[in-house]
Amino acid sequence: MTEEVLKVENLNKFYGDWQVLHGINFDLKKGEVVTLLGPSGSGKSTLLRTLNGLEDYQSGAIYFHGKKIDPSPKNWQLLRQKIGMVFQSYDLFPNLSVMENILLAPVKVQKRNEADVKKEAEELLRRVGLEGYANSYPRELSGGQKQRVAIVRALAMNPEIMLFDEITASLDPEMVRGVQEIVEDLSKHDHMTMIIVTHQMNFAAKIADEVLFLEDGKILEDTPGNEFFKNPKTQRAREFLDSMD
Ligand code: ADP
Ligand code: MG
Repeated sequence: MTEEVLKVENLNKFYGDWQVLHGINFDLKKGEVVTLLGPSGSGKSTLLRTLNGLEDYQSGAIYFHGKKIDPSPKNWQLLRQKIGMVFQSYDLFPNLSVMENILLAPVKVQKRNEADVKKEAEELLRRVGLEGYANSYPRELSGGQKQRVAIVRALAMNPEIMLFDEITASLDPEMVRGVQEIVEDLSKHDHMTMIIVTHQMNFAAKIADEVLFLEDGKILEDTPGNEFFKNPKTQRAREFLDSMD
């Protein structure tokens, strides 16, 4: 039996009076890649942000390793060390070097030994093709390089889950593939547990174990990846896939 890392149960979220997420249910098993697909405005980012404690929710529950999360800010601060997130906009600190960006949270928040983290960071930088960039500043890097640093920064916390929200959406087309390959390698090589929001259907089809198809804040489909792209269950998902071609 595969271990369940995350479970979401009947999650409802409102912005004021308006309900953005409706009765969300799904689970994420160790090593599994779930891709979250759906039209713009369907609630994908809101769901990811909720799973990272960046948004509150009004009812339902999130379980981490079978334990219901107490949604207090302090608790989320702890959990966020285990659930890494990378956004569309790289959000690197512009006044810090690449290495300083990476070391900040592991050293300041996790209180880990700086020399140890530095060694890991150097290895990660090498892995994503950024050997020799430790002392560069974000402004000196291309979009693709900045996004690789953002991925390394999240990985340096040794997270159990990675959440990726359209991480290639702001990149020049020639940068996209390289960043996707890093995510694919994380899945294949490290068996990293991940939830990926993407508009790149080829990439999603390649990497998804399971697809959640979201519309208007509801999960319309929860379908294995190899079925979803060939034969989605709903007409709506079929239209969505056709529109992406
Ligand atoms: P997606 O990532 O699928 O494009 P989002 O999660 O960003 O969708 O947004 C879902 C809906 O929630 C959209 O209608 C959006 O306008 C709305 N929304 C997002 N953030 C906020 C917010 N902070 N306050 C109010 N409405 C929001
Ligand atoms: Mg979004």
